[in-house]
Amino acid sequence: MKKTVTKKREKPVTHEIIYYGHETLKKVADEVMNIDGPVVELIDSMFNVMYRSKGIGLAAPQVNESLRIITVDASDDTKSVIVELVNPVIKEFSDEDGPYDEGCLSLPGLTGEVFRPLRLMVAGYNRDGSEVEFEADGLLARVIQHEVDHLNGILFIDRLEDYMRNEMRPELKKIKKLNKRS
Ligand SMILES: [Zn+2]
Repeated sequence: MKKTVTKKREKPVTHEIIYYGHETLKKVADEVMNIDGPVVELIDSMFNVMYRSKGIGLAAPQVNESLRIITVDASDDTKSVIVELVNPVIKEFSDEDGPYDEGCLSLPGLTGEVFRPLRLMVAGYNRDGSEVEFEADGLLARVIQHEVDHLNGILFIDRLEDYMRNEMRPELKKIKKLNKRS
């Protein structure tokens, strides 16, 4: 009898974006206790989802993983600004704030002007488990604040005036349904 070798196919880690209305987006995400293989895989998967969706930032809860991890690519033509942070903590904010038209992969099609501090100091860990701390301004500071909000169950629309959010209601209803497709 011929021995047949069936190659066991490793199941690839696939993550999909979840949308407004999903329970995971409302939760305060858990601290990562140990930066191990699965965490590094999750970070890689998050970058994949982020780039595939043409996003500039992603928080783990957006792929239904309630963990304190964010990925950011705030690069422009002149410089590459790619950041991954595990257990990020914003330690300082500038007094000066400003508006920016924000969007979110979990709220497709919607944008709204959000005021936030323009500069900050953030600390966290990278995939090697090394502690990192740096100052950020411009788009990077903006995206970090938006993503850290996700870790606390906050969406950018929660920071808009009530009347603005009310105007979005029909759109929000449609977005909610995207969660039920699968
Ligand atoms: Zn978002």
